[in-house]
Amino acid sequence: MEKKELQDRIRRLVKEKNAILLAHNYQREEIQEIADLTGDSYELSVKASRTDADIIVFCGVRFMAESAKILSPGKTVLLPNAHAGCPMADMITAQQLEGLRSQYPDAYVVSYVNTNADVKALSDVCCTSSNAVTIVNAVPAKKVIFIPDKNLGSYVKKFTDKDMIIWNGYCPTHHHIYPEEIKLLKEKYPDAPFVCHPECRPDVVELADKVTSTSGIIKFTKEDPHHRFIIGTEEGIMYQLRKNSPEKEFILASNGFICPNMKKTRLEDIVLALEKNQYEITLSPAIIEKARLPLERMIEVGAVPSAR
Ligand code: SF4
Repeated sequence: MEKKELQDRIRRLVKEKNAILLAHNYQREEIQEIADLTGDSYELSVKASRTDADIIVFCGVRFMAESAKILSPGKTVLLPNAHAGCPMADMITAQQLEGLRSQYPDAYVVSYVNTNADVKALSDVCCTSSNAVTIVNAVPAKKVIFIPDKNLGSYVKKFTDKDMIIWNGYCPTHHHIYPEEIKLLKEKYPDAPFVCHPECRPDVVELADKVTSTSGIIKFTKEDPHHRFIIGTEEGIMYQLRKNSPEKEFILASNGFICPNMKKTRLEDIVLALEKNQYEITLSPAIIEKARLPLERMIEVGAVPSAR
């Protein structure tokens, strides 16, 4: 079936089923084109929870669909491709986190939203890439266990005097971009600010003119007066950048900036998801209840309750 035919079929099914189609900024262009909402993972889950849709179709990776389920337990949440996982989220298990908690009983656990639901359930508060610094500074403890991303953790460390115990996880897509490539691009395009995601390695982040989340990158490049930008995050964002700032030029920092998991979902998977109600995210009520708490605490920054 042609792309347009598949897209039309999806839009018809979305309407018939009272569903909402969410696409993360790293999804394939043909999916972002027809999504009801595009954006960062947590922002999408929050927005979807405020709609009256019965079904949330989350085009992203598993932990994102889980967060949507945690915030909307009464809705059916579908992940169109059951194999779309996140290697970074899988780098820490609930058991490993329990081990850390007993090793550092006085520490407060801050988990990046890129974690699986059972790990969130054992965390004190969550953070996103855009609020990580604020959240870490707001926790009512001197010692902080930061999971799972060591790169985001080192970025936060520069802006806090908390004693941070940082887990050794990383995003393979962002971690394998090296400063040499960025330096060459900066020499080639001296007029272009380098804007990157804090999941990049510290030696890459050091070269950045702006470090921010995916939605932050879209906003910054739209508002900043420069006409050309070097972009340090997954290539799916190029669609949004060109859409939001058609008069500007965007240079992807590396050809290797592709998350294979984010590219697993195809239009055909979304058709099947809507026709067959697959693949439904199911979480136990206990996990939903426990994992909701750190997400809610994140929203109440500044009024973060005492450590457990
Ligand atoms: S880009 Fe990195 S953090 Fe995001 S889903 Fe892919 S592997 Fe996970």
